[in-house]
Amino acid sequence: MNEEEEKVTPMMVQYRSIKEKNKDKVLFFRLGDFYEMFDDDAIEVSRLLNLTLTHRAGRPMCGIPFHAAKSYIRRLLDLGKKIAICEQLELTQDSRQLAKREVIQVVTPATVVDDDFLDAKESSYVLSVAYGKELSVSYADITSGDFVMTTVPLDRGFASLLSLFEQVRPREILVGEDDYFLHPDFQAVVDVRGAMVTKLPDWMYNQKQAYKALCAQVGTTNLKGFGFEENDPSLLSGGALLSYLEDTAKASLGQITGYGSVSQGTYLVIDESSRRNLELLTNQQDGSSRFTLFSSIDQTVTSGGARMLKNWISFPLVRKQDILERQQWVAWYYDHNDERDAVRTILKEALDLERLSTRISMHRSYPQDLVGIQKTVSCFVRLLDTNLSKLQGLLSPELTKENLNGLLEVMGRIAKGINEQTQGPFAEGQVINDGFDPELDRLRSLKGNGKGMLDAYLEKVKQQTGITTIKLSSNKIIGHYMEVSKGQTDRVPASFYRKQTLVNAERYTTDELIALETEILKSGFAAEAREKEVYEQLLAQCVAQSAILKEIARFLSRIDVLSSLALTARKKDYHKPQLVDQDVLAITGGRHPVVEDQLDAGLFVPNDLKEPEEGNRFCLITGPNMAGKSTYLRQNALIVLLAQIGSFVPASSVVMRPVDRLFCRVGASDNLAKGESTFLVEMQEASLILRTATRNSFVIVDELGRGTSTQDGMAIAYAVMNELISMGCKTLFATHYHELADMDIPGIQRLTLKVSEENGTVIFLRKVIEGVAESSYGLNVAKLAGIPYPVLRQARSFQKRHDEEYTMASAQPSLFSTEPVLSDDETRSLRQYDALCDLLDHFDLNASTPLEAMALIQRLKEMIRPKPTT
Ligand code: ADP
Repeated sequence: MNEEEEKVTPMMVQYRSIKEKNKDKVLFFRLGDFYEMFDDDAIEVSRLLNLTLTHRAGRPMCGIPFHAAKSYIRRLLDLGKKIAICEQLELTQDSRQLAKREVIQVVTPATVVDDDFLDAKESSYVLSVAYGKELSVSYADITSGDFVMTTVPLDRGFASLLSLFEQVRPREILVGEDDYFLHPDFQAVVDVRGAMVTKLPDWMYNQKQAYKALCAQVGTTNLKGFGFEENDPSLLSGGALLSYLEDTAKASLGQITGYGSVSQGTYLVIDESSRRNLELLTNQQDGSSRFTLFSSIDQTVTSGGARMLKNWISFPLVRKQDILERQQWVAWYYDHNDERDAVRTILKEALDLERLSTRISMHRSYPQDLVGIQKTVSCFVRLLDTNLSKLQGLLSPELTKENLNGLLEVMGRIAKGINEQTQGPFAEGQVINDGFDPELDRLRSLKGNGKGMLDAYLEKVKQQTGITTIKLSSNKIIGHYMEVSKGQTDRVPASFYRKQTLVNAERYTTDELIALETEILKSGFAAEAREKEVYEQLLAQCVAQSAILKEIARFLSRIDVLSSLALTARKKDYHKPQLVDQDVLAITGGRHPVVEDQLDAGLFVPNDLKEPEEGNRFCLITGPNMAGKSTYLRQNALIVLLAQIGSFVPASSVVMRPVDRLFCRVGASDNLAKGESTFLVEMQEASLILRTATRNSFVIVDELGRGTSTQDGMAIAYAVMNELISMGCKTLFATHYHELADMDIPGIQRLTLKVSEENGTVIFLRKVIEGVAESSYGLNVAKLAGIPYPVLRQARSFQKRHDEEYTMASAQPSLFSTEPVLSDDETRSLRQYDALCDLLDHFDLNASTPLEAMALIQRLKEMIRPKPTT
């Protein structure tokens, strides 16, 4: 102990030594009914949470009541903090004695299992990366026990890693310290995600240790059963992930019972920006799930179902057989309305079995969680009863009759034993029902009979002594006593011992009363202890069923998703896509699922994507702004994606071969956080397509080369287009450069969106037809947007002059000449005319008073004939 510590209290020494091991966390130090924070933690947290900062012996401190800790923890988590919860592990007899304290849990986004800290419809992944020639990546969701290990190539711009980030959307990312600090580009990619980044010491990434720990976790001697050899590089990140989870959760991780891998060719490859551009799970405006593919098709009724649907959208399938396996079930529920409704009615009563069973196996549960599990299992049993012959096909081999028998027995005991109304932590007398455990019943009756026994004893004493006014009572200080008024004390027998003297009375006890008192007290403690024991037994029996509970949870989620997709198809007129082996992609009457939702029924104009002639796999799409190009491009990508998750699609018919990769390059935005300009981002995305697309990929490009000069942009668009044509991937390429469509390029299909023009106003018909757009109608759209007339007029005259110059092609067109095009007089009268039009156009007749209308006429008159200046 150094000099300074000698001066501080033993408790502060204890605090410091615990804090030393938890430097990167806020330490919640339990003192009585409070969690206290000291020193820098106190200063920071008081500022973050607006708490009062106090001082004790000159050290800053602040505290929060332990029963309200959850809401503070949640706020700190949202602010990107980790919290180490340090509890007092024993009760001390002597208040001067130092109680043993230990960190019992580290709360990070990745280790929370409490519903209060989780979004019911979101998975909660922590992802670990080890840098190398290829990247070793593992991710786990502690709330479900999912644990996946894989590798991704170390490619240009970390494209594969970014795509995986977007798929998994981790809440926390683990990296080795050296990897992180020695590779700034890697650091930038990890940081930009916005997840909590935890730097682990490098020794935690160790292949040998990883293999040992991963085997030990699942109790096997090797990992062959999961498809991993000892030297598999993906284990490197997996081992670090597992030991991090163990260190922070400080609980059994019984929910992790196996490891998954991502085998090549199983899932559709979609890069990060394509995922964002297609707004699959989050929109680009506010990052919420509104106006996304997920929200448009989600009809799930359970949280587990919603999470599974998100997972399916993130990982669409590639193999026809895998897709058909889901599709046939969607079709079955589509065809059988009654069965679908029956199943969904039952599912509505199911709770989040996946998270409940995780909580019990981590010993972080409340007694009510057992009731929730029991009720959900009974939903499962009812499902089997209503629909057994059909559902049999979806049951996993683990759900055998024998396994179920064991589970149902435990569930029966829980139903009988646990009080349905119990809430919150274990509380004596609230958890186990009467009539379940004979011993508990006996102790409870002893305790409950206490009053009866005392009454009987008092009656006996009254008879023996003849003192009829004697009273039997108790208080906290002296316990039970018999009170005799002063006038009667001479009748008190020798077996009475005096306990207390009052002004008018004496208080006594007897050996028999002491014995009675002890028995009553003991039976109270014993009843509580027995109740706890019975509860713990039921809990342990339920934990032993974790694996099968997890299977049931998965089954319920799956049924939920399949029936939800069928219901969406019914409600929204989706149809079953036909998957074939021939190389085709033909869509008839396709619609955009999200845009369609925003319009009144029947207003969305369906469009086809026709089977091209042999070789014409490239569609060049021109059309004015607002005509519906982006909608058309994206709807085709979304239809393909929906088909590949096993869903029906918003189209009257689709015939397609599943594609291997999907690219969706849409109007780029600056990635300022990474210091990249719009144009750079655009080129990076184009380069990814050119490097990785195959003939079996579906590529969507919505405008390319707009972030640079027209000449550069068009040149790049032309070259990229030619390369895509020669690569032979199915491509939809929308461009503003009409010149490209006019070129004589063989083997392309030219499409445009039909537009009609009446009295200078364009009408967008939203119909895709063969051909090339006649004009961009850019100024018409500007007019629609309310650009003032004078500005429009100027743009039009500029355009006219430029067109003339361009057509003459005699000299280099001077785009930025400032020479006036009209004479001064002409310009003046045109300006006046424009100003009038502008005023009239922006005058809302319906929202104006007669007085305002008269004022407008007055203004117009003055504009035409200005008042003579005096
Ligand atoms: P562009 O990409 O050509 O500028 P968008 O695809 O963004 O045009 O479409 C503009 C708007 O037109 C959309 O927000 C949508 O409201 C409407 N729209 C697009 N396609 C259709 C369609 N097929 N049917 C009905 N409305 C559509």
